[in-house]
Amino acid sequence: MGYDFLIVGAGLYGAVFAYEATKQGKKCLVIDKRDHIGGNVYCEDVDGIRVHKYGAHIFHTSNKAIWDYMQQFAEFNNYINSPVAIYKDELYNLPFNMNTFSKLWGIKTPKEAKEIIEQQKASLHITDPKNLEEQALSLAGTDVYEKLIKGYTQKQWGRPCNELPAFIIKRLPFRFTYDNNYFNDRYQGIPIGGYTMIVEKMLKDVEVRLNTPYETFVKDNPDVADTVIYTGMIDAYFDYCYGPLEYRSVRFETERLAEDNYQGNAVVNYTAAEIPYTRIIEHKHFEFGQQDFTIISREYSMEWQPGIEPYYPINDEKNAVLYQKYKALAAKETNVIFGGRLGAYQYYDMDKVVAAALEKAAEILG
Ligand code: UDP
Repeated sequence: MGYDFLIVGAGLYGAVFAYEATKQGKKCLVIDKRDHIGGNVYCEDVDGIRVHKYGAHIFHTSNKAIWDYMQQFAEFNNYINSPVAIYKDELYNLPFNMNTFSKLWGIKTPKEAKEIIEQQKASLHITDPKNLEEQALSLAGTDVYEKLIKGYTQKQWGRPCNELPAFIIKRLPFRFTYDNNYFNDRYQGIPIGGYTMIVEKMLKDVEVRLNTPYETFVKDNPDVADTVIYTGMIDAYFDYCYGPLEYRSVRFETERLAEDNYQGNAVVNYTAAEIPYTRIIEHKHFEFGQQDFTIISREYSMEWQPGIEPYYPINDEKNAVLYQKYKALAAKETNVIFGGRLGAYQYYDMDKVVAAALEKAAEILG
């Protein structure tokens, strides 16, 4: 069939690579086992509310080049992510900031907040945090950890906080200003027109085959392209020869409600261990929707098993070691490049995926 590139997966990584390669005159074929493009950024339009089918996606970056790159596919709105957390009957602003501390302790100044955190930390004697629990305690003290981190994290990852890597919690800003912006990044927003439209534009001049799993497709077409860009699960590619990597998956319970505003915010986290879901997303608020109805999704975190969607790589030590073994195998493949969240087994934000695809395209295409 004579393609230069077979791109496995029509998510952001695959679409950016396909766009760049096609621009340079390369012949690309994109295949995806799902019945739609977009990977996990895909949104479904339900009477004007775009439902983030595979979890909420908020684009944010500090990389001006990536922000500028995205502008060719969409303008972004001025949505700023400011989730709230509900713990039992208490409500707090996220990320951890002066609004959170003020509500927790009835204090007003950064100095007062710092003193309380220092007191709470003093007896713990953590000098070099070795895991998420120690990291969270040494940043924020025991109250924030017990009410806002411990239960949520254990639900989200299905593992105790002292068995998880510290970097997971370092994703979140922690600040002594009254600032509820969940991200520290310079640029942020939701694309006007939606994520699916972005990927449609990227793939406008590219041949795409949906409902096409890689395994069966290559069996029937072994020499379809000179190079394969593989964005599926790296362990699946090698037939789980060293055993499966672990992932967390998410089950969404989505409901349409005959009221215009259910929770007053796009993202509400439920941080108590007793509540079975981690958060509720009210999709219309990402785009300031004015519909007279609303759509919410409760997120239930669960361990990945064959047959369901993998979402989050679990970057703990055990999986990191296993991934290195697959990575060594991948390096021996002469005409296959692994990329994206599943191909690189990385807890990637969208801007990092776009950056990685652009880097790879520049490296290969020159
Ligand atoms: N986290 C938490 N409490 C919260 C929100 C987040 O403890 O209310 C921790 C939790 O460990 C989570 C991590 O911070 O896995 C990263 O959260 P983020 O919101 O970035 O996760 P994502 O949106 O990627 O699921």
